[in-house]
Amino acid sequence: MILMSGAEVAKSLEQRLQEEVEDLRKRGCQPTLAVLLVGDNPASQSYVRAKLKTAERIGIQARHYELPQSAQQAELLARVRELNVDRQVHGILCQLPLPAHLNADEAVQQIAPLKDVDGLTAANMGLLALGTPRFIPCTPAGILEMLRFYKLPVAGKTAVVIGRSNIVGRPVSILLSQRDWNATVMLCHSKSLQLAEWTRRADLLVAAVGIPEFVTGDMVREGAVVVDVGINRVTDPGRPKGYRICGDVNHRQVAPKCLAITPVPGGVGPMTVTMLMVNTVQAARLQQGLAP
Ligand code: NAP
Repeated sequence: MILMSGAEVAKSLEQRLQEEVEDLRKRGCQPTLAVLLVGDNPASQSYVRAKLKTAERIGIQARHYELPQSAQQAELLARVRELNVDRQVHGILCQLPLPAHLNADEAVQQIAPLKDVDGLTAANMGLLALGTPRFIPCTPAGILEMLRFYKLPVAGKTAVVIGRSNIVGRPVSILLSQRDWNATVMLCHSKSLQLAEWTRRADLLVAAVGIPEFVTGDMVREGAVVVDVGINRVTDPGRPKGYRICGDVNHRQVAPKCLAITPVPGGVGPMTVTMLMVNTVQAARLQQGLAP
């Protein structure tokens, strides 16, 4: 059984990224990412910290903007517009989720498509759906990069994706169905009937549900490749922090049946951060006229 390590794949990409950043610097361009955090969600704060740290390691300049929990929509949109026209900023990331009183979709759609390093604007989603992506959303991009790195079979196989969010499930299903990957794809969600019957057919199963250990051993076929996207905090008084992190897959039950599986933590999570850096470097190259 192959344990697909996000850290290992990320490390192999980081070296290439450092070289690309160095090349851009020699051309007078310092790749710069603006990270916008609204409010005090502890999980969001920790994701932002990880992104800033990784950017620094690679040589990407990260600018961190914080708005208070009480921020109003107009304030948020104004900040995005400012960053859109700031010529020093190549990529803009609005850390999701936003506090409930804000309209996240409106804020994300306000980001200039050439700076939309999360790949979530209508323009970039449209390009992705047409098979000519500009920026692939970071988590789906990370999943594909792991499948490529471990040379796992996808072409002609049956892929089942659980979850249809714009940030993970839907783009993953579109990408796997395209000519680069050639999987036969089934996209499942909360209204899917007899879910386990579909998942048991999967050669490749991607779980992006947001429910701890949702995928159990009986839902997976022998020899499947399983990608666990979930990051769930589960109360655990035995741990120093009072919680533990687990995925959407019951790893203990599922792993023994798999050809390959991602762990949580240490699987898709680190890849999401690294692919944000890949997209930021790509944004800088695009804005320098160095990329198609
Ligand atoms: P989301 O927007 O809440 O979407 C969850 C999806 O799961 C929805 O499409 C929902 O169906 C479906 N679902 C819910 N209950 C279900 C059920 N009982 N049976 C089948 N499908 C069901 O979540 P998300 O943003 O995609 O995130 C999913 C998970 O991935 C979360 O744990 C999140 O923390 C994690 N995540 C990890 C990374 C990373 O870097 N590793 C990045 C992003 C997200 P409906 O559409 O019908 O509601």
